[in-house]
Order: sequence, then structure tokens, then C-alpha cells
Amino acid sequence: MFEYAPAPESRSVVDIAPSYGLFINGTFEAPGSTGGVFKTVNPATEEVLAEVSAAGSEDVDRAVAAARSAFGPWSALPGAERAKYLFRIARIIQERSRELAVLESLDNGKPIKESRDVDLPLVAAHFFYYAGWADKLEYAGFGASPRPIGVAAQVIPWNFPLLMLAWKIAPALATGNTVVLKPAETTPLTALFFADICRQADLPPGVVNIITGAGETGRTLVEHPGVDKVAFTGSTEVGRQIARSVAGTGKRLTLELGGKAANIVFDDAPIDQAVEGIVNGIFFNQGHVCCAGSRLLVQESAYDEVMESLKRRMATLRLGDPLDKNTDIGAINSAEQLERIRVLTDAGSQEGAERWSPPCELPAQGFWFAPTIFTGVTQAHRIAREEIFGPVLSVLTFRTPAEAIEKANNTPYGLSAGIWSEKGSLILAVADKLRAGVIWANTFNKFDPTSPFGGYKESGYGREGGRHGLEAYLG
Ligand code: NAD
Ligand code: MG
Repeated sequence: MFEYAPAPESRSVVDIAPSYGLFINGTFEAPGSTGGVFKTVNPATEEVLAEVSAAGSEDVDRAVAAARSAFGPWSALPGAERAKYLFRIARIIQERSRELAVLESLDNGKPIKESRDVDLPLVAAHFFYYAGWADKLEYAGFGASPRPIGVAAQVIPWNFPLLMLAWKIAPALATGNTVVLKPAETTPLTALFFADICRQADLPPGVVNIITGAGETGRTLVEHPGVDKVAFTGSTEVGRQIARSVAGTGKRLTLELGGKAANIVFDDAPIDQAVEGIVNGIFFNQGHVCCAGSRLLVQESAYDEVMESLKRRMATLRLGDPLDKNTDIGAINSAEQLERIRVLTDAGSQEGAERWSPPCELPAQGFWFAPTIFTGVTQAHRIAREEIFGPVLSVLTFRTPAEAIEKANNTPYGLSAGIWSEKGSLILAVADKLRAGVIWANTFNKFDPTSPFGGYKESGYGREGGRHGLEAYLG
């Protein structure tokens, strides 16, 4: 085997300020002017990257008020005029994508290969796509003169900081809404960079406001009486809380929550391709993916072949410096998330599943978890039921399509699923019976702005992306 030489992307392409204020009404306020401050770290090194403001209730008031006063003029603009801003934002994102990719990898821990080749192209694509809808809303199938809802409160998680921002902001703006967005507390930096892009694009002040802070800031924002629409992506637990607080207020709500997707491999599947799909399904973004293929269901007759090939492939995964262009698996986003993964994987061993990882050296500094698979998993095991949100795969087996469907659907979630088979009729028949919002066939974790995304059951409600994604922002 050849050794790889280090191939780090330069971090000097991006300037990180020592501290950041809130972005309200088109200006950055003085850092920590009212609420407190907190630090965001690079999870690969634990180095502090910057100090960020924690927005308190007065800050939330000001941000919502700014979005409210911007709403009238913004929603009155012809769609073609709003589209110009969105196209401009999309082009600036492309122009500055190298800076953004490096910043995303620094703050989040994801491999530069992914932030550069997956996150950033999709972020730009979302803005381009919804820019295209802005002047065609009458033809989208939601009535002859669809109206925007008003001020949207948007709270997003840390696993795809900039991409989740794009999923939320692009359709909201295209349809004429204004926005107050709160990024996750461990990954605020690319959202603040995006605020600067809004200035660069001459977006009217108040159309986009970015406020940073932890859960309390998010709660204050979604409970604010001046908000007309709430869009949340994150844990089912917080989603439930938000649904309760929004109930009866007249606010519109979309929730994109967790998942425990089945990736189903039939014995006639092309095994090498299926193994690539299994690896991509669970080790992409360290498994911090709501639609991750975290439950592998393998047909018994193909089990030995799949497992042997999967283990061989896993031994080639390179874990380490997220900025190294050869890195496949980066850092776990936070100490808290690492602890959650440890608790659940310990439960897996205690409950009797068999644990395996390839030989893998973990860096001494930072938050890391080796790619791991559990075999001998039963449906009663916690690792088969709960979202681990880490690079951990639970392997189960089945004999017949009916058994695969039953096991795949045996979860409180229903976000995504994968099917691997050479037989089109089998794929269609199985897909028809799976209770999952997105089903991939002979591929996994493929995203496109034209395609709606969303869940069944505890995975949430509403759709993001595509024509369907417009509906969540139209009254
Ligand atoms: P979380 O739900 O606590 O956080 C997501 C966002 O919600 C963050 O911006 C957070 O500040 C905010 N928030 C927290 N409490 C809030 C409240 N009461 N009201 C409004 N906003 C609030 O998620 P987490 O703690 O970072 O992760 C916990 C687990 O959630 C993970 O282990 C994973 O299983 C799951 N998760 C799922 C997704 C997803 O994409 N579906 C994303 C992140 C985490
Ligand atoms: Mg961080």
C-alpha cells in the first residue's frame, strides 16, 4: 500500500474575526452588546475559532421587528426583482465557495472533500433553483395569486450549517417572506459569513437577519409573537417542544427531525456498488446526517459477501484532519455529540451486539470516533431504534422482501430508505410499501434542489426542496 502524503487545504484563504455581533437590519452589531458571548471551536483541534454573541430576548425583538418592517416592501417587489437578489447571492456563493468550504470544515469538522464538493455546490444550487421560481409562483400550483406568510423564524442544526441555511432561506425569500435565522451554537461562522454575502448582494436591510445563540435563543425566537412561520431542523425532542409551543398560535410550522433509515440490500444487488452506497450512507459527514442509512438490512444469502467486502472497504477509510483533501472521515462535531455516540455504542455492546472497527488511529486532540459496525443486532436493541448520529452502522438480516419491509418500517421515524437490487420491479414494489419520505434505489444520500425532502411520523412534517418546498412559505 502506498502512503498518502498530507494534502491540506490552506486555511489562510479565510479571515476569521476574533468576535462577531448579531446581524440585524443589514448591519453587524457590536459583539455581545446586549446578551452574553460564547465560543465556537474547531472540533478537530479544540482550538477556539471566534467569540460569538448570544442573542437575548431584546435582540430577538429587534431582529423580528427588522424582518417585519422589511416584509412589506420585500413582498411587494415583483418576483423577477427578488430573483435578481437570489441569483446574485448564488453567484457570490460560487465565487467565495473556497472560503466558505474551508470555514465550514473548520467550524464543523467535516472533510474539505465534502464541504467543497457536496455542501457548497448544493448551497449555490438551492439559491439558483429558488431564484428561478420567484417570478413563476402563480404557476406553481398553489393558487392563482399565492401570498407570502410574513416573518419566518428559522432554527437549524450543526450537521450541514450552510446547506440547511440555504434550504431555509432560499425558498422563504423567493416567495416574498423575510427571515430571522438562528444557526446552531457549535457552527455559527458560515451563517455569519452568509450575512456578509447578503450585504455584498445589496439585499435590502432586514430581509435576512442572523442571530446567534444556543437553545434558549432558539426558543425565544420561535415563541416570539411577531413570527408568522417557524421552520426547524434538528432533534425530534426539540421538534416536539416547538410543536407544543406553536400549537394554537396560528403560526405555520414545518419540522425536519431525525431518522433511522434502512438501507436494504437484496442478494441480486451489485455488491461492490452496494458497499459504496452503504459506506456513503453511514460514513458521509461522520454519520451526522438525518437521512443516514444507519440500519443496514442485508438479505441472508448475501450476508457473508457483503460483510467481507464492507469490512475491506472500511479499512481504506482515512480519518483525520478535515482540511486534508484525502480525508474521508473528519471530526465529531462536539464533545456532547461524541458522548452521545459513546453512550449508544456502549449500550450496543452491553445488549449483546458485536462491535467491529478497522484499525484506526485517532488524533490525540479533538473529538473523534472510528467508523464502527455492529453485527448480530436485533430490532429490540437501542442501536437499532435510536438515532446515533455518528459513524456507526447497525447490521440486521432478512430472508424475504416482506420481512425487509416489515423491519424497515419498524421505527418511529420515516425520513429515508435505500434499496439495492438489480430488479426494477422489486425496487418499485418495495419502495411502494416503505414509509419513508425519500427512497433511493441503487444509490444513497443523493440530493438535488429540485427534489422534495421530508419525513413521515416522528421524522417531521412539511417538505423542503423542489416545487413542494414553496408551499411551506406560501399562505
Ligand atoms: P437540537 O435539536 O438540540 O438543536 C438543533 C437546533 O435547535 C440548534 O440550533 C439549537 O440551538 C436549537 N434549539 C435547541 N433547543 C431549542 C428549543 N427549545 N427551541 C428552539 N430551538 C432550540 O439538536 P442537538 O442537541 O444539536 O443534537 C441532538 C440530536 O438531535 C443528535 O444526536 C441527533 O440525533 C439529532 N439531530 C438531528 C438533526 C437533523 O438534521 N435531523 C440535526 C442535528 C441533530
Ligand atoms: Mg464549531
